[in-house]
Amino acid sequence: MIEYLLAIALTDTRRKGEGVPATKKVAHGPLVVRGSIVTLRRRCGKQSCRCVEGDPHETPALSYSVEGKTKMLTLSAVEIEEVKEALGRYEAARGELEARALAGIETLRSRRQRSEAGSRRR
Ligand SMILES: [Zn+2]
Repeated sequence: MIEYLLAIALTDTRRKGEGVPATKKVAHGPLVVRGSIVTLRRRCGKQSCRCVEGDPHETPALSYSVEGKTKMLTLSAVEIEEVKEALGRYEAARGELEARALAGIETLRSRRQRSEAGSRRR
């Protein structure tokens, strides 16, 4: 148990020690973003504007969360397709990582079952 806690502490220290913001570290390769595309609707407040009586202004935005806080990044019309593709890349990579992680657990599990079958010590 002590070894286990120590391992966690070492991992945490190393992660903090890297010190470089994730956004500056990975600037290469195709665009990848996390979050979802939403439509912001607002009335601008100008008395002469059509939005006083008509539909509110609509702005596409990327909604995403960082450390539990929801953030918004407004998108231009030309960015929407690019961002959809980048979201797709994120989902694909995440799915792949999830599958690898589960396969890793299965590897550990089958290794244990093999060693338990081989020697009856545990
Ligand atoms: Zn308006």
